[in-house]
Parts: sequence; C-alpha cells; structure tokens
Amino acid sequence: MFAKILIANRGEIACRVIRTARRLGVRTVAVYSDADTKALHVEMADEAVHIGASPVGESYLRGDKIVAAALATGAEAIHPGYGFLSENPDFVDQVVAAGLTFIGPSAASIRAMGLKDAAKRLMEKAGVPVVPGYHGEAQEIVLLASKAREIGYPVLIKARAGGGGKGMRRVDHPDDFSEALSGARREAKAAFGDDRVLVEKYVDKPRHIEVQVFGDNFGDAVHLYERDCSAQRRHQKVIEEAPAPDMTPALRKAMTEAAVKAAKAISYSGAGTIEFIVDASQGLKADRFWFMEMNTRLQVEHPVTEMVTGTDLVEWQLRVAAGEKLPKTQSEITLSGHAFEARIYAEDAAKGFLPATGTLHHLRFPDKAPEGASMRIETGVRAGDTISPFYDPMIAKLVVHAKDRQAALDALGIALSQTEIAGSTVNTAFLAALAADADFSAGDVDTGLIGRHQEALTAIAPPGGETIAAAALAASGAGASPPSDDPWSSLAGYAHFHAAPRRTRLRYGEDDILARVSVRPDGRFEVALDAPYDSVNSHDLRATPRLARWPGHVIVFEGAVSYSFLVPDPLARTDEAAAASGSLRAPMPGLVKLVRAAKGEAVTKGQPLLILEAMKMEHTIAASHDGVIAEIATEGAQVTDGTVLVRFVVEAA
Ligand code: ADP
Ligand code: ADP
Ligand code: MG
Repeated sequence: MFAKILIANRGEIACRVIRTARRLGVRTVAVYSDADTKALHVEMADEAVHIGASPVGESYLRGDKIVAAALATGAEAIHPGYGFLSENPDFVDQVVAAGLTFIGPSAASIRAMGLKDAAKRLMEKAGVPVVPGYHGEAQEIVLLASKAREIGYPVLIKARAGGGGKGMRRVDHPDDFSEALSGARREAKAAFGDDRVLVEKYVDKPRHIEVQVFGDNFGDAVHLYERDCSAQRRHQKVIEEAPAPDMTPALRKAMTEAAVKAAKAISYSGAGTIEFIVDASQGLKADRFWFMEMNTRLQVEHPVTEMVTGTDLVEWQLRVAAGEKLPKTQSEITLSGHAFEARIYAEDAAKGFLPATGTLHHLRFPDKAPEGASMRIETGVRAGDTISPFYDPMIAKLVVHAKDRQAALDALGIALSQTEIAGSTVNTAFLAALAADADFSAGDVDTGLIGRHQEALTAIAPPGGETIAAAALAASGAGASPPSDDPWSSLAGYAHFHAAPRRTRLRYGEDDILARVSVRPDGRFEVALDAPYDSVNSHDLRATPRLARWPGHVIVFEGAVSYSFLVPDPLARTDEAAAASGSLRAPMPGLVKLVRAAKGEAVTKGQPLLILEAMKMEHTIAASHDGVIAEIATEGAQVTDGTVLVRFVVEAA
C-alpha cells in the first residue's frame, strides 16, 4: 500500500477519499485554490499545497502544478476524484511520466472511452448492445439530418465529448433539427472545445441504469451490480438508488455481463461505470437496454453501491492501484437491502434549478440515522463555509440504506426533513417532494418523471400564520439562544420586556409583514398578525419551531422546507432619524451595558459609542455622523424604547 497520496480534487469527494486513506494508514496531501484556503478538505488532510487562484483553469485543472505538488511532498500516487482531471488521459500521462501512480485506469482506457462516438464503435465490436444511431466521423449537416430521418424521430443529438448533461438536444421533428444541431454544437464547443456530435434514437420511457465495474492490473474484472439514476433534471442525476426498482434476474444478468465484457475489452483497471439506457415502455426487458457511455472514474453516486454491497470502493481503488488483486471475487459480491442517495445542491429548483451561492450560516444534518436505517452524510463544507461561484454547488450527498426500498425511501424522507441549511437557496424541499412523489415511491421512474411533475415538485406553500409568528418572535429577539430552547416559553432576559406589544417588521419575498409581539399575564407570548394571517398564541403551537438566525435574517424550518425572512434592521432606521435630529435613541428597551465615549468628546461617523443589551443580544450604537457629544447615557441604565442615548452638540449654522 502507498505511504502517502495526493488528492487532486476538492469538496466532498476529496474529504471522502481522505477518510478511507486515513483508515488504511495512508498519509494524505490536499491541494487547494485561493477560494479553498480554509476548506474542509484542506483541514482534514495531513498536508496541503496551494496550487493557484480560484478559477479551475488556474488551480484544479493545472495538472503541472498538481504533479509538482505531489513530487514536492513525496506523495507516491494521485487520486483524481471525479470531474476536473479525472478523465483526462494527458494528465494520466503526465503523472506516469513523473514516476507517480495514477489511481484510476490507464490513459489508453480513458482515451478508448473518452469520446462517445468512438466508445460506441468499440463497444459494438465487442458485442455490447449500443443505442441505435449514427456515431460516425462525418459531420455535414445534410448527412446528420438524413441519418436522423433514418433513425426515426425523436432523436437525441449529443456532443461526443459531452459530460454532465451538456451539449445535448432532443429533437422531435425534422424541421427543428438544424437549429437543435447548432445549439448542441455551440454548447459543446464552449464546454468541451469540441463540437462534433453523434445522433441517437431517443429511447422511449427511458430509464438510466448503470453498472459499477472494477478491474485490476491482472486482467480480472467484476461488477458490483446496478444503480438506477433515472431521476434526472436536465439530464443530470438527482436521486440515485441501488438496486434498480423492479430489476429482473434476466435483465440484471444481461446488463452485468455486458458491462464486464465492456471493461475487459479495454483491459480496464480501477473503478468504472458502464451507463446504459433502458426502454421501460414494456417493463424491464433483457433485450431493451443499450450502452450509452462509460465513465472511467469513481462516480458521484458510488456510495449507494457501497451500501448494498458492503464495500469501500475507494479502498478498492487504492489497493488495485497499489498492485493488489481485486479484494473480492464475483461470487463473493452480494446484494443486501436498498440504498438511496440524494444530491443536496445550492440551487433554486423553482427557477429552473438555477445554481445559487451564499454563506451557509446554518448547516445541520440529522445527528442519527432514522430508525431501521443506516446513513452517510458526504460533505465538503461546514457551517460558515461559502458556496462560491467557482465550483460545483453541491453541498452534500445524503445516503441511506435499509432492508428494502420502502424502508430506505422512508428513511430518506425523514433524514431530508431533519436537514437544516440556511444562507443559500437549497433543493432539500424539492428532493423531499421527489422522495414522496407517488410514481417515484412506486418505483415507476423514467428520466422524464421530474420534468412531468416539475410544477408540483418545486412548489412551496406560502408560510402559514404559525411560521410567521415563530419568525416574528425570533426577530423580536425573544428566546433566541440557545437555539434548542423552546422560544415560546424561555423568558430569561425578557423581564424588562414590557407588556405593551412590540412591533416587528418582517419581509418574506415581496411581502412586508407587521407583527406585534406581547407577553401575556401567564408568561407566554402572543403574536398578532395583520390579515390574512391569524394571531397566534404560543399555547396553540403544535411544536417548537426549528429556527436559524443571523443579523437581518430569520429562517424557519418546516420538514424539508425552509422559510427565509428578512428582518429590516431597526438600528438602520434609527441612524437615519438620528442624522436629522442630532440624537441617537434606543431602538428597543434594554440595558446600557457599556459606554465607550464621554461628554465633550469629538467622535467620527461609525465610531461605536455604547452597547445596548436587549433581548439577550448586544447591539452596538455607533455615531451616525461626525460630531461632539453633548450628552450620553450612563452605564447600567435601564432604558425604554425611544429613550435618547446620545445627544450631539448642535453645530453653529
Ligand atoms: P456522475 O455520472 O458521476 O453522476 P456527473 O455527470 O453528474 O457524474 O458529473 C460528476 C461530476 O463531475 C460533477 O461534479 C460535475 O460537475 C463534474 N463534471 C461532469 N462533467 C464534467 C466536465 N466535462 N468537466 C468538468 N467537470 C465535469
Ligand atoms: P453525459 O456524458 O452528459 O452523462 P449521457 O450520454 O450519459 O451523457 O446522457 C445523459 C443522460 O441523457 C442520460 O442519463 C439519459 O437520461 C439521457 N439520454 C442519453 N441518451 C439517451 C437516449 N438515446 N434516449 C433517451 N435519453 C437519453
Ligand atoms: Mg452519463
């Protein structure tokens, strides 16, 4: 086994590789860009090397810098993760030329499968069924259009260099062919620098079922069964599972045999995936599946396979790359139970899955697996980390395993509803809706399911009165910390909160909401809301609300949905008013905790003058403009809403 390896990646996959390496006693070297200086993978690794600026072209795609980092730190091998350089044969050549080991297949295997057209020609020769279509060299539009007609509409135009669902266009009618072709070519040129395409029959009721294969350097290859990745949006996977629902013994046998044949045809070494498209219009039939492409790397969704086969595929990768034989023979690899993986992304499902960015002010995953299930959270971020525009906006993969599909699906729903993420728009509610979708639950999946049900899957009910009341209460400052306390009954620090209702403003989307929070004689809170919402008594609440808050924001979690409220800063308004009146007033009742300026002192705009403690939080009152202090509150004074805290000397006009 290696003594030290370098991981040429970031995020969850870098962390996941480091974990297995550590368990095997292998030391790890991380690489990082400017944006990742404080990233989790850097913290987890034994050593870390800075390789450049944040854009991937200046860091994670710089093979030369990565190889230099491996040599400088004495790493013997490089694990590429997925994405980035993982399927780049020139990088493999560089690694090998430097005397290092690439933890993955040979450059020749990657080249053989790198382009979808050439891969299909190769597989055809090896006797593996391929998707009917045109995958030749010629690219004239007239020829491609006539091939499309021969194949029969609908067809799918695909970039031969494609990946990640890019450079693909479905065409339903000959009239649309030329425009779709231009679109696919443009996208392919921009994403892969190669605008050559292939044309395929668009398979009816398509299901994406792929087989995990593994080869070693002794010519042996096995499969680790299939995964179903049919739940897709824009040709990208959303929730994956293993095994495939309703898989038949005949189809499984045919697919896994074809997959192993494909791997052996290119003397494949390491982890790989053979992706098949299956026509499920008549159920799963052993003669209705075709090779689409091979991914010559570890796949994002590899954990579902690990869960149902009880293996660690990264351990297998390290062992095979270090020259060991495959850890198990085919007959020793068995299936047990059912597993799901949900990809949690920073994205706005309702706005066409637009990628989002932001700081994850609050990040909490379930602290234990739902009953009867086991769970893995694969993530590369912590609370406080930022989802930057530079990289894939994946936050985590939530993986669950249970005895059967229904139990695993129930566990997935529960785990999603216990996941709390705030600070960026995330897709947890969408994932939970998909997990609960009737067709998905029944295992009646195909790649069009999400598109057909998109509206229902992405709809979020507006917040109800209770939700708004919980947000208003939190915004008013009551019962804020610790967050696990029941805010409806935690009165500590609230003694000076007088009985008159406190006005709190909230903003939800485009709506301004005014709430009045008061304490009732029995010590519970009451939140009065304007129509159309009802006033809410703390006694009526079903459960303790789950909340996150940071200055200017309150988030209420309900199941997998998060409601995000903006809280306009009352101090900001005080500042504006102060500039006019020449004085600063207490924005809320509280205690003058600390006074940091004295009468007669000249202060500058923004300088902190005193600290007001109100509702368990400290608020700094800063000078609203340059001036000389005429009067300032005394330390320890209890003040009410609107009390003048600081008065400035009136300037001679
Ligand atoms: P999988 O087939 O393993 O599910 P995806 O196609 O979703 O993989 O892509 C895996 C990862 O690789 C994703 O993080 C994606 O952003 C990244 N990726 C996919 N294609 C490319 C590409 N052509 N260049 C760079 N990164 C890519
Ligand atoms: P990528 O390299 O982007 O992953 P794939 O060839 O694997 O490209 O295709 C991505 C997805 O597009 C598949 O998972 C499937 O949902 C859909 N797809 C691909 N080929 C076909 C086809 N011939 N018919 C119907 N759907 C297809
Ligand atoms: Mg694919």
